[in-house]
Amino acid sequence: MSDLARCFWQDDVALPTAAMAPLPARVDVLVVGSGYTGLAAARETALAGRSTLVLDAGPLGGGCSSRNGGQVAFSIKPEHADLASRHGKAIADGIYREGLQAVADLRARATGGELECDWRDVGTVIGAHTRRHYESLVRWAERQPRGLEMPYEVVPEARLREAVDSPLYRGGVVFPNDAAVHPARLLIAMHRQAADAGAQLRDHCEVRAIARDGDELEVATAAGTVRARRVLVATNGYTGAFSPWHRRRVFPIGSYIAATEPLDPALVRRLIPQGRNLGDTRRVVIYVRPSPDGRRILFGGRAAAGETDIARCVPRLRAMLAQVFPALADAGITHAWMGFVGFTFDTLPHLGERDGVYHCIGYCGQGIPSATYYGRKAGLWMADRPGGESVLRNLPFPSRPYYAGRPWFLPPAVVAYRLLDRLGV
Ligand SMILES: Cc1cc2nc3c(=O)[nH]c(=O)nc-3n(C[C@H](O)[C@H](O)[C@H](O)COP(=O)(O)OP(=O)(O)OC[C@H]3O[C@@H](n4cnc5c(N)ncnc54)[C@H](O)[C@@H]3O)c2cc1C
Repeated sequence: MSDLARCFWQDDVALPTAAMAPLPARVDVLVVGSGYTGLAAARETALAGRSTLVLDAGPLGGGCSSRNGGQVAFSIKPEHADLASRHGKAIADGIYREGLQAVADLRARATGGELECDWRDVGTVIGAHTRRHYESLVRWAERQPRGLEMPYEVVPEARLREAVDSPLYRGGVVFPNDAAVHPARLLIAMHRQAADAGAQLRDHCEVRAIARDGDELEVATAAGTVRARRVLVATNGYTGAFSPWHRRRVFPIGSYIAATEPLDPALVRRLIPQGRNLGDTRRVVIYVRPSPDGRRILFGGRAAAGETDIARCVPRLRAMLAQVFPALADAGITHAWMGFVGFTFDTLPHLGERDGVYHCIGYCGQGIPSATYYGRKAGLWMADRPGGESVLRNLPFPSRPYYAGRPWFLPPAVVAYRLLDRLGV
């Protein structure tokens, strides 16, 4: 089983390395975390002439950014009406506008050749697992805010096979504007951009503490102390003890994913005829897509109530896949891996600053467009350059009383959600 514990995306590309010794004593900007967020920010601060150092506790990009599902979609979770009641209509509009812009910007940069990441305009189909969910999915698509809506196409059950051949669904909605990327290639392209702009990078160098010292911040790292004018916390679901304030506000959820063995491409085309991404209306999230060569199915989701070893999740992932595609019940699994996504209590990403320590975190499981977009904004903001404005800047960032960084509430929630999904409510 342990042979399976490897990430499919790293079969054909190697993550960048950067062991630099010794660390500089002082920089303008120190970025903690080298995923999409940290790299996007570092590129902007370096381009603006700020000396920039990116540190990662593990391999460069070794968090979620090299190992996700590669599905690009509008990534704002709360409904517009909910945001409007919490923050007012203007802010709700702004958040939706930026959510759409994040996808548009990434599409422009990927298809324009700036970021080589195997971009594919495949769209997403969301399957409804009961008739009631089909009706509410359609109503949800119809009540998108005027002028800020995603294009969509309702696919009734009778026509669903055009998008996905699964007995689980009673109809669905297609979002043709969504896309798929090779996540590790995107990470590598962003790393190259940050390095070319002049950012210094170092892997396997954990940040352990950040303390204010006069006009500067003193950052304790595994390789010594670095002084910085500004620090960016870009650690999302890996935010740990080095910053207790952020740790209380972004909580990690393990997302587990696997790839089948190479299948008959005709079978993959029959199951997902237009090569779309697939999700569904169940509370326990799943995400499915064909591999770029159209020979495998990649499928992931919340495969365990509590966090666990990836090898132990394979039987459940396999059962989840067989539920969607019974024809794959006996398909071999060649790769299985996981990562920690960062959730927030208001299910919004957060971009903010406290006493020279900036943060850009909390993409709630869908960070490809948001991390690349808000990471860039964070960098422009830190460099005092135009373009760093965002409606998210310094929105209240809630925590919960007594929450210190260990999401004890997740396992019972997952168990309850599974039950509700099974009951079809
Ligand atoms: C299995 C899986 C599937 C996913 N699928 C999708 C998808 O299909 N579509 C989508 O939009 N999103 C998806 N996501 C989420 C998406 O990958 C993330 O939201 C995004 O990559 C976050 O980027 P980031 O740069 O903010 O964080 P990350 O890429 O997670 O990087 C954070 C980095 O911070 C480093 N770090 C943490 N603490 C320290 C420290 N003290 N010192 C130094 N470094 C530190 C970590 O080592 C890590 O490299 C998925 C995630 C997973 C795990």
